[in-house]
Amino acid sequence: MQVNLLMTPIEFLKGVGPKRAAVLKKEFSIETYDDLLHYYPYRYVDKSKIYQIKEIQTEGAYMQFYGRVVRYEVVGQQRAKRLVALFEDKSGVIELVWFNGIRWIEQLLAEKREFIVFGRPTLFNHKWNITHPELIDPKTQSESPFPLKFYPLYNSSDKAKKSGMDSKAIAKLQLQLIPQVVDVVQETLSQEMLQKNNFLTMKQALVTIHFPENLEMLNRALLRLKFDELFFTQLRLLKLKLVTTQRVKGHLISKVGDYFNTFYHNYLPFELTNAQKRVIKEIRADMGSGRQMNRLLQGDVGSGKTITALFVMLLALDNDLQTCLMAPTEILALQHYESIRKFLKDMPLTVEFLSGSTRIAKRRVLLEKLKNGEIDILIGTHALIEDEVVFNNLGLVVIDEQHRFGVEQRAKLWRKNSIPPHILVMTATPIPRTLAMTLYGDLDISVINALPKGRKPIITRHFYDRDRLRVLDFMRNQIAEGRQVFVVYPLIKESEKMDLLDLMAGYDAMALEFPLPEYAISMVHGKMKVDEKEYEMQRFVKGETCIMLSTTVIEVGIDVPNATVMLVENAERFGLSQLHQLRGRVGRGGEQSYCILMSGNKLTTESKQRLSAMVNTNDGFEIANIDLRLRGPGDIQGTRQSGMLDFKIADLVKDEKIVSYTRRLAQELLQTDPELSQPQNLPIKKFLDQMLKEYVYYGMIS
Ligand code: ADP
Ligand code: MG
Repeated sequence: MQVNLLMTPIEFLKGVGPKRAAVLKKEFSIETYDDLLHYYPYRYVDKSKIYQIKEIQTEGAYMQFYGRVVRYEVVGQQRAKRLVALFEDKSGVIELVWFNGIRWIEQLLAEKREFIVFGRPTLFNHKWNITHPELIDPKTQSESPFPLKFYPLYNSSDKAKKSGMDSKAIAKLQLQLIPQVVDVVQETLSQEMLQKNNFLTMKQALVTIHFPENLEMLNRALLRLKFDELFFTQLRLLKLKLVTTQRVKGHLISKVGDYFNTFYHNYLPFELTNAQKRVIKEIRADMGSGRQMNRLLQGDVGSGKTITALFVMLLALDNDLQTCLMAPTEILALQHYESIRKFLKDMPLTVEFLSGSTRIAKRRVLLEKLKNGEIDILIGTHALIEDEVVFNNLGLVVIDEQHRFGVEQRAKLWRKNSIPPHILVMTATPIPRTLAMTLYGDLDISVINALPKGRKPIITRHFYDRDRLRVLDFMRNQIAEGRQVFVVYPLIKESEKMDLLDLMAGYDAMALEFPLPEYAISMVHGKMKVDEKEYEMQRFVKGETCIMLSTTVIEVGIDVPNATVMLVENAERFGLSQLHQLRGRVGRGGEQSYCILMSGNKLTTESKQRLSAMVNTNDGFEIANIDLRLRGPGDIQGTRQSGMLDFKIADLVKDEKIVSYTRRLAQELLQTDPELSQPQNLPIKKFLDQMLKEYVYYGMIS
């Protein structure tokens, strides 16, 4: 079998052996020939061009220059001893510095002065210099290990380097490997797609990515490999979606009955926004279609997702089905439980709560009732997913703030019922389009794109620590008017203990400024027991305390309409999306609300950009886009755990166009050949099948 050649354990490659194989596995997860082949360079050394010294702009890039050493001397003593040479070309001068091999370089410079200098310029004391550059005699040209204009640099690690596995060694292994395996590399796209897009074949792309002949070929290889990663991600998601819409039968939820109508006409304390009404209609149409719904409900903080979900739950109840609502934290789940109980207090419905901390005796009773169908709505944490939680007839699952878990967990919920329940996922983190396509590519999307009427836009201000007195005065004024204040501390230290100390110090400082009996302060943090937390929260919710001090546990969900000030300490340590979530905790009542971002007196440029973005806009989508630009997708809250963004080479920000393009192509392909059964699409099907095998839910759709 030819294909198996790629599955050969890496240990058998010449130059590796058992010891290095262990290092490659541990440090880079390289276990087979195939893994090594797909261990791509992170950068290339460009020896195809000679730069001018004045062209140096940024640190970090390898460049080469052509010129003369005009002067050199050895300076410093002992460990600080170094050789410093002044090198000039037509455009300027730069310092070259050596700490090692000084004697050898001195000899070389005594003989010759004209060189091609190759290295990485860095800025030191406002001057450009290159440490340990390569000096190349212009007549011989190549001193590099490869006769190439571009050569690859691979990520290595300290441990790997100790075993001799530095970038150069990895490159040598690639040189060893590639000629052996290149002929068994399988094409993954159809001839038609290759031609239409003028793509390199997979074979060409893989060879080129490691050893490009020139810049143009390198770019084509990059494009081809990025395309593949993104295309197959989209194809997988769309295929899943296609299968669910076509084959997975869902509960038919068509009837609008007493629960829905009674609540709407008698108990709803406000008018729904048009956006909420539209979304409820969209969901109703979906659940009434006979197929299973998998839908994402997006809406900025405060847009009223909970009540929207409640209406959807009432629809399920009207059709004799049970529903559950799941939240990522205990506090959040509890708050949903409280608010939904309050909304439904005059309705004949049983609402229960379940979490990891529900006592065993209580849990037993609850699970029994759930199985018998005596519970209508179950609200809780991840505990709801566990196997022992068995429903009588589960019709709908609502998941709040769910991007903390991905496709796999969603699939697990399907199995809770013989007919899989409808699934509604709610998120307040506005997700940029390309990210949504990838994270939620298998879901339909509804958006609540307006806030309830009468909300005043929150005013956001950034203050430095030195302005603290003014901020404290402002807090006193707001409290004097009967309002309440959130103060949030970041989780910054390595240990929770240290964070707690920070919070405690903050508490002491606040308690001095806001003494009893005039002021009462609540405090909530991760180390508290659930009922303690709940008690403190409730004091604040009821208005018994005027200041709520916490770590980020209040980040999502907590609803206190009388709170008008969100003060964030060390705001520069928070991500933008997180700050936006925090800001969304205020501005929920009719009063003017404020978000105050406190920061240290010295800020980096990026921190300044982040804070001023917050000051300048209240638009969650804009914030998310800026966040994505500044920090990249891996850092957007929770996306990392989902495992959906582990691309080797594609970048959801930079490659936005490719993402959209691959989605369109994948859509078109599945439209013309949904089973991928046409002969020309065989390579695509083969690769996709291989990929799908790795996923849990494959069993459900194949
Ligand atoms: P989020 O979308 O952030 O989860 P919530 O569902 O917590 O927002 O709603 C925020 C607040 O707005 C709650 O107090 C909720 O009762 C209230 N609310 C929701 N819809 C409306 C509406 N149409 N009119 C007025 N207030 C509303
Ligand atoms: Mg919410």
